[in-house]
Amino acid sequence: MAVREMTCIVCPQGCKIKVEYEGSEIRQISGFTCKRGEKYASKEIVSPERTITSTVAACSNDGELTLVPVKSDKPIPKNKMFDAMELINKQKISLPVEAGQVIVSDFMEKGINLVACKKII
Ligand code: SF4
Repeated sequence: MAVREMTCIVCPQGCKIKVEYEGSEIRQISGFTCKRGEKYASKEIVSPERTITSTVAACSNDGELTLVPVKSDKPIPKNKMFDAMELINKQKISLPVEAGQVIVSDFMEKGINLVACKKII
């Protein structure tokens, strides 16, 4: 049986949670204070996800290059992070861009978008 200790990142309280598991089967979870923490810890073992943040190259009308901060609007599977970064690095967009503008729709998974974090004109 494997044991993993983690800090819950769902809220600032940062409870220390201990998960005992075999493969992807959870045997016991302890240390959480609420159901959200229990769910977080279970998901961390079975199918961890992360919101990805990065930058995309953008070109202004006068040909000047800048970087636009972007993020996925929902978490993506952690095992897709490298593929996601490769896809982000291939993007090149034109300015202006609005905060929340979709840069890549259905990014890595259907229903997840890569969006701009900031308005840049
Ligand atoms: S277990 Fe609940 S109270 Fe503790 S950090 Fe996670 S969300 Fe917050």
